[in-house]
Amino acid sequence: MSLFNTLLAPAISLAPRALIRKVSRRYIAGDTVAEATERVAALNAAGFCATVDVLGESTESLSQADHTTGEYLQVLEAIARDGLRANISVKPTALGLLLDATHCEHNLARLLNAAEAHSIFVRIDMEDASCTQHEIDLLLRLKRRGYNNVGLVLQAYLKRTDGDIAPLLGTGENLRICKGIYVEKPDLLVEGALDDRGAINPHFLRHVARCFDSGTFVGVATHDEALVDQVITLARSRLVAQTAFEFQMLLGVRESLRDRLLTEGYAVRIYVPYGKDWYGYSMRRIKENPRMAGYLLRALLTC
Ligand SMILES: Cc1cc2nc3c(=O)[nH]c(=O)nc-3n(C[C@H](O)[C@H](O)[C@H](O)COP(=O)(O)OP(=O)(O)OC[C@H]3O[C@@H](n4cnc5c(N)ncnc54)[C@H](O)[C@@H]3O)c2cc1C
Repeated sequence: MSLFNTLLAPAISLAPRALIRKVSRRYIAGDTVAEATERVAALNAAGFCATVDVLGESTESLSQADHTTGEYLQVLEAIARDGLRANISVKPTALGLLLDATHCEHNLARLLNAAEAHSIFVRIDMEDASCTQHEIDLLLRLKRRGYNNVGLVLQAYLKRTDGDIAPLLGTGENLRICKGIYVEKPDLLVEGALDDRGAINPHFLRHVARCFDSGTFVGVATHDEALVDQVITLARSRLVAQTAFEFQMLLGVRESLRDRLLTEGYAVRIYVPYGKDWYGYSMRRIKENPRMAGYLLRALLTC
């Protein structure tokens, strides 16, 4: 990070909303289902699959959770209607997990039924560590009820993932492995993860290897090019078919890497968030990317 960006980064929280809005267009499809499906159609035309995410994490009432469920039902309808190569990603807390786990499961089952009717897969995003066990239990309950079009995310920065992954592996299963985005207590994290994101890589790779070995389809969600190359080397050394995994990246992030992977013949899925709750999501993405301080200033100058 340049000195310029280092100095500017802390000021990002003070940036005007209108400026954040302008910069966020890169990371967020828009406010509406129509804007999301339009962006997905463009990604499909360029060769990418997509995952649609309705923004919004802190759900304060069950009616809000039901509203989010209704929004996802519209997304599923739109994906089916437009014949898009897309699925959805859902945060259980947005469907009411922390308010009433049974109600959340009911909302998820509504989505799974609607998705199943159109052969669409539903990904359960993994949230902060206070939710980890709840979300694993939720997935396992849904599996026991016979839903097969659903899969979870595991975070390589958590020590517990080595144990958590075991019951989720198997032919026909589908996992996403990511590094993890939340600020967690240091004792929960693998060694070195607090100061160095690269320290998570051997753990990430080990979890991907377990997916490969068990015939579990794996979404490799990272923008870390060194890690991507290690996954490719691993897949080649174990003669893993390119259909057994896909790379997943966030909309607007590291587009040169996603283009490279597509050119090399790998499946690449882009995570496409949309919705009215764009501000919190944008701030997270912007703070993650040191170069954004510079982009923000440029956007300000061209307002
Ligand atoms: C498809 C997808 C789904 C995800 N789902 C979850 C989930 O369910 N739960 C969860 O906890 N986390 C999730 N994440 C976030 C993930 O855990 C990481 O925090 C995030 O992807 C950044 O880590 P990284 O693997 O890209 O590697 P890092 O080592 O953090 O970053 C690698 C490189 O990519 C660049 N980079 C990373 N993020 C950005 C960005 N926003 N803008 C520009 N450059 C960037 C970095 O600058 C760095 O150079 C998901 C990520 C993706 C791609």
